[in-house]
This record gives sequence, structure tokens and C-alpha cells, in this order.
Amino acid sequence: MNKPHSLELATAGYANGISTQLAAKQRQDGDQACLTTDEKEAIIAEAAQHFGDFLTALGCNWQQDPNSADTPRRVAKAYVHDLWRGRYESLSEVTSFPSDGYNGQVFEGNIPLTSMCSHHHQAILGLAHIAYIPHQDGKVVGLSKLNRIVEQCSRRGTIQEQMTLAIHHAVDQICEGNVGVAVMITAEHHCVSCRGVKHTGATMKTTQFSGDYLAQDTAYRTEFYEFCRA
Ligand SMILES: [Zn+2]
Repeated sequence: MNKPHSLELATAGYANGISTQLAAKQRQDGDQACLTTDEKEAIIAEAAQHFGDFLTALGCNWQQDPNSADTPRRVAKAYVHDLWRGRYESLSEVTSFPSDGYNGQVFEGNIPLTSMCSHHHQAILGLAHIAYIPHQDGKVVGLSKLNRIVEQCSRRGTIQEQMTLAIHHAVDQICEGNVGVAVMITAEHHCVSCRGVKHTGATMKTTQFSGDYLAQDTAYRTEFYEFCRA
């Protein structure tokens, strides 16, 4: 199991949590420990070597092709710096502010989401909608923190259900004293559109609610869905 950071939630599919290298460092130096540029470079170099072998096994004479000669390194770099970025970095310290009596919803919608399915390593592209209800004597967070949570939890191999839950968990942890959190994700999966059944345009929607969003006769859930549509 490789999830020492308290915001990481991968109760199934540990391959989707933070990298084993970052996990080892955090176990030793604490939750805020980060990988250095040199440590990331070492991961890229080793992964590039193996990706070259992968292409060779597929019968690809990549070393002789000027377009492909540096592809193993490009692919490894893209995984570490972009596609799986959330596995190699931790969310920085979160600053929260007094809610000053505010107790309505705080909603942010249409947050761009770029992820990758852990089953096929194909892109998952979509939008995340997030809301929470601060306690009137509780805390609110800077809005961009919600975008950062989406980046952290989506930039890795995952499945949409797990990612929805992970984003919910992180928002719940960071928005101290909240009385409810709602997350909705709408996404297209390239493993459905580009391979297998090959259906373009099919989208998957997932939701995760807690607290007052689950109360019977609550208006919060209806309002949340209205905000998602706007
Ligand atoms: Zn897939």
C-alpha cells in the first residue's frame, strides 16, 4: 500500500495512488515530502528504457525512425509531468478562511478534467462539478483549491467511480467543518470510443454526496443539479 498522504484515497487499486517512489519518501520525511527534479528524471530515464523495449516487442524499429527515436523518453516525460502528474506531487498546504456566517452552497462547475483509465491507459476527458456547504462557524477555501484537487486526483490512472470518490474525500478533508460535499463528473472514455465497442459520444456520469446533500427533502441536491446544468 502506497498512500501515506492523508488526502490519498485508493482503498482498491493501489496502482492508482501516489508513486511508490513518492510514497517511500513521504514515509521517511513526512506527508509534505516531494520528489526532486533529479528523482523525477531518474524515473523518466528508467521508464523510457522499458517503453523502448515495449515498442521493440511490438515489432517497431523505433531507433531507426527520426519521428520515433526519442518517443520512449517523450512518453515517459508525459506520464511523469502531465498524464500521471498527480502521482508524483502532493497537494501543497491549503489555506482556509473563516466562512463569516455563510452557510449556503459553494459551487464550482465545468472544471476541466483530464485523466486516464487504469484498465486500458486511454484518456478520460470531461468536466467536474464540485460543491460544499461550509458550517456557518467553519472554514471556506480559495476557489482554485478545488481545481487543484481535480488535477491531483485525475492526473493518474484511475476509474471514474474511484476518481469521483477521491475528489469527494479530498474536498471533505480540506473544507474543515463542512456539513456536506457534492461531486459530479461527466466524462467521455477513449477506451469506449477508440477501442473495444468504438462508440463515440457516450458519456459517463458519476455523483458522490455526503452530509446535508443526503438529507431527506433537501433542496441542496436539486440546487446542485441546477448549478451543474447552468
Ligand atoms: Zn478503460
